[in-house]
Amino acid sequence: EHRIIETADLPGDSWQYSLRPHYLKEYIGQTKAKENLRVFIEAAKLRKEALDHVLLYGPPGLGKTTMAGIIANELGVNLRITSGPAIERPGDLAALLTNLQERDLLFIDEIHRLSHSVEEVLYAAMEDYALDIVIGKGPSARSVRIDLPPFTLVGATTQVGRLAPPLRDRFGVICRLEFYKPEELVLIIRRTAQILDIEIEEQGALEIARRSRGTPRIANRLLKRVRDFAQVAGAPAITSDIASSALDRLEVDRCGLDRTDRRVLQVIIEKFGGGPVGLDTIAAAISESVDAVEDVYEPFLMQQGFLNRTPRGRVVTAAAYRHLGLPEPGRDDG
Ligand code: ADP
Repeated sequence: EHRIIETADLPGDSWQYSLRPHYLKEYIGQTKAKENLRVFIEAAKLRKEALDHVLLYGPPGLGKTTMAGIIANELGVNLRITSGPAIERPGDLAALLTNLQERDLLFIDEIHRLSHSVEEVLYAAMEDYALDIVIGKGPSARSVRIDLPPFTLVGATTQVGRLAPPLRDRFGVICRLEFYKPEELVLIIRRTAQILDIEIEEQGALEIARRSRGTPRIANRLLKRVRDFAQVAGAPAITSDIASSALDRLEVDRCGLDRTDRRVLQVIIEKFGGGPVGLDTIAAAISESVDAVEDVYEPFLMQQGFLNRTPRGRVVTAAAYRHLGLPEPGRDDG
């Protein structure tokens, strides 16, 4: 069973693809990244050149794939989508690259998961628009260089720290996507509601926005679930009350934490005295992968001020104790 506030793109999420904005002016929030990209796109178009390679990073569900699509549309070029784990061998990458037309955009999601041998081939492709391929084996093996059309690579990652420095250095544009503010999520929720023909009041949208962990993918998903509650209750529109009671029943609390988020905090408090404790230990204690803890739970809990990273491990904050209704350690109530 999947968590409702799972940030990953789930199999049942394909309906969200049709909600993706197509142009920069429809892309809500991320003002800084958007304004910079607008300039770079415009400049590339004026020069009739391929846009510099772009790296987008940030937690899942914030709109990296959406942004890649928008960049391609704004440039008026084709978009090819793949992911780090999908490119198994250098030959797979060569096949992708040689099929590109001039100025096309290649999107590689989870680019931190490229294998080393593929990465090596990518370096020359990014830098010189060329492929160095070894033909044959043993003493007769020789290397040939194939020229590629100028293209734009857009890489996306949730783990910018895991990117090999030579790869990171080959991106001319590096954009960090931030969690969305509730006001921005309200706009996204209302836009989605309009597309899906869902009646929602401003306050209802705000209630969902506040509990969507700053993430459009979750906001859209919660909107759909809340609509179910509204419909079954016979309500003509989603009000603040309906949203709030539906989200309570889905166990998404007022700060947007779900059961697993709370479990992360609880485990650190109950088993490890509030920390410091290592990531691996936390992951094992809640039976989740280290990646999930690092990509999904930790960034949000840190952003909310419930968790801190220290050189010796993760530590929960006083705010976390208060949020869970637990007494803070080292504090006398007297
Ligand atoms: P990521 O690639 O970062 O995991 P996606 O680009 O797949 O995230 O975004 C998830 C969903 O959220 C998209 O299908 C889209 O409907 C919605 N979305 C993301 N960013 C925005 C935005 N800025 N404005 C409107 N909708 C957005």
